Amino acid sequence: MKLLFNRVFDGAAEMYAEAEAALTAAIAELGESAPMRMPDTAYHLACIYAYLGRKVTTLAELRDALADIKSKMTSNPRLGDVFSSGIGTALAAEVIEAVKYARTPTPYDGTDYHGHFSDAEVRELGVPLVTRDIPGFVVVIGPAPSQEEAVELIKGYQSRGIFVFLIGGVIQQALAAGVSMGFPLRVVPVGADIWSVGHIISVVVRAAMIFGNVQPGDWEEFNEYSFHRIFAFVNAYSPVPDITVACGGGAIAMGFPVITNETEDIQVVPKSLIIQENTRDFIETSLEARDIKIKVTNIDIPVAFSSAFEGEVVRRKDMRIDIDGSRTDCFELVRMRESQDVEDHKITVIGDDIDAFEVGTNMQLGTIVEVYGKAMQSDFEPVLERKFHTFLNCIEGVMHTGQRDMIRIRIANSAYDAGFRVRHLGEVLYAKIKSEYDTVVDKVQVTLITDPEKLKELRAEANVSYDARDARLKSLTDENVEVFYNCIMCQSFSPSHVCVVTPERLGLCGAVSWLDAKATNELDPNGPCQVVTKKRVIDENLGSYEDVNESVFKYSHGALEKVTLYSILEDPMTSCGCFECICGIEPMTNGVSIVNREHTGITPLGMTFSEMASMTGGGVQTPGFMGHGKHFIASKKFLKAEGGIARIVWMPADLKAQLRDKLNDSAQELYGIENFADLIGDENTVADGDPESLMNFLAEKGHPVLEMAPLM
Ligand code: SF4
Ligand code: ZN
Repeated sequence: MKLLFNRVFDGAAEMYAEAEAALTAAIAELGESAPMRMPDTAYHLACIYAYLGRKVTTLAELRDALADIKSKMTSNPRLGDVFSSGIGTALAAEVIEAVKYARTPTPYDGTDYHGHFSDAEVRELGVPLVTRDIPGFVVVIGPAPSQEEAVELIKGYQSRGIFVFLIGGVIQQALAAGVSMGFPLRVVPVGADIWSVGHIISVVVRAAMIFGNVQPGDWEEFNEYSFHRIFAFVNAYSPVPDITVACGGGAIAMGFPVITNETEDIQVVPKSLIIQENTRDFIETSLEARDIKIKVTNIDIPVAFSSAFEGEVVRRKDMRIDIDGSRTDCFELVRMRESQDVEDHKITVIGDDIDAFEVGTNMQLGTIVEVYGKAMQSDFEPVLERKFHTFLNCIEGVMHTGQRDMIRIRIANSAYDAGFRVRHLGEVLYAKIKSEYDTVVDKVQVTLITDPEKLKELRAEANVSYDARDARLKSLTDENVEVFYNCIMCQSFSPSHVCVVTPERLGLCGAVSWLDAKATNELDPNGPCQVVTKKRVIDENLGSYEDVNESVFKYSHGALEKVTLYSILEDPMTSCGCFECICGIEPMTNGVSIVNREHTGITPLGMTFSEMASMTGGGVQTPGFMGHGKHFIASKKFLKAEGGIARIVWMPADLKAQLRDKLNDSAQELYGIENFADLIGDENTVADGDPESLMNFLAEKGHPVLEMAPLM
């Protein structure tokens, strides 16, 4: 019998030998000064950067890092050595994968595998991990005993909302069985070889840097963070070779339990290395080991319902029915009613059901959800309505976009064949609203209308409601409300981060408006959003208040003493990592450039979104940089202390197009400037990463920033 210790040490040595061979070959071929850069990340070779504090930029530097890795692979029969050899194994795995990227920037193009994850993907995964929409993730290694079992395991995790990374033979099994995979589906085939595990560890350590502000080189802190904040675990199918056992040692060091059906030369480590001989019980054993509780909602529909389906796309060729609000009368509306007007769980369909339409054709749909609740307020109507999107998207085979009377819903053939009909949309809305809003909603009824004649009339009525709401929203200003709210939802990931949410400044994730925060507070008084009074003003222009400072001090657990609401320079609000946009001062023009997450190009600051984002995040204040929501940009409070939106000198064309009308309105009101959006540079009018080209553009347009006082 071979001891577990020795299996880890032998496996570590094997991984090291692979890494050394791959690197030596690459250096012989490309030369030691060849550049070494992972695509779409500001974190270099993230595992090495995180654990060793080394920024690798050339193959020679990678060779130095590898020597350092070897020094961590100690092999005394002690637990500490198992852990450090295990982490060393993960770092060596990153070296092997990195070498592929030194040879070509896209080594996985045209393969079945995903390889490296971009910073955007890390954030995209990070946000739902924060909100616990994704309760955790699993790394599945090796082929399952059968193709059927591979599918069962993947679907089992998927239906529980767990994010799935696959490595090795299980990927080909899933492909052969026709399992749909991809980042949006939350099932990712990472790589064929065990060293592709380096890409997953890279995601974990970047999350720690982005959300947790863990500092590069702080070995202990990375393990602490992953143990406490990242709910991950490993399923390794037997036979498990030493090299995989060594990776398992790394996983355990990071706090991720390993569940396996391997029995030979394996010794159980309580809570960390668990033998489950019955592979069909892997899921249950794993969730228990990592202490993950899944909230189950039983909804009476013939297809699955899970957040794992949120990103699912229904393509035209797979579509049974198309509901298109951009061309026909469709809408979604929530209305508060009196008790006698609402019959709980009544679901009514008016008009033809899907069966009456040809395959792949159009149907119209209006959805009216009427709610009664003693604690319900009309201000919560739009809050509930906006959730339709998430709720309906979680249905397997249903895709939803938009809101109000600009919606689009596609229902797949597969869902229809399983028996899905219009009524089931109502079942989902009923069940979700009842379960998630139980403190304010006592009764819910849903009416679904497909009759075009009736819809015309009802849509017009709905528009009256939308207009009234917009008028109310517009009338809400930071001055005329009594209180603000804070939000600490992201603290599960970013422990010292606090958002202060006001009517004119929504949360930086873009998902929490003042009304949302108010609703959250009233739904759950001890929950993530608390009232922040605003009675003791320090400086109106900066948006600084003694009460706000006290609140952030308390809720950041003493990490933050003060924040201002309207300044990027003086005590700006912190960023957790899930901001929609980031703005940064562009020194030459005295203005700010804003870039949204979707934009991959280079800003005039010479940095991409990822690179700018790496300057902030982690719940710390970084004057000169600030994460924020999209809709804060056109607000009259945006950078108010520095002169307001006239400071905006550059933003991506796409973002500008989305905000054009609002920006123009605000600029007109604040400065009397017409068509302000046209004065802002973008990637089409200004050369990438070139402040001088931006300066010329601004001068030519007569941008108001040129008349403003210097920022610093
Ligand atoms: Fe996180 Fe702030 Fe959004 Fe709340 S408002 S979820 S703390 S980003
Ligand atoms: Zn966040």
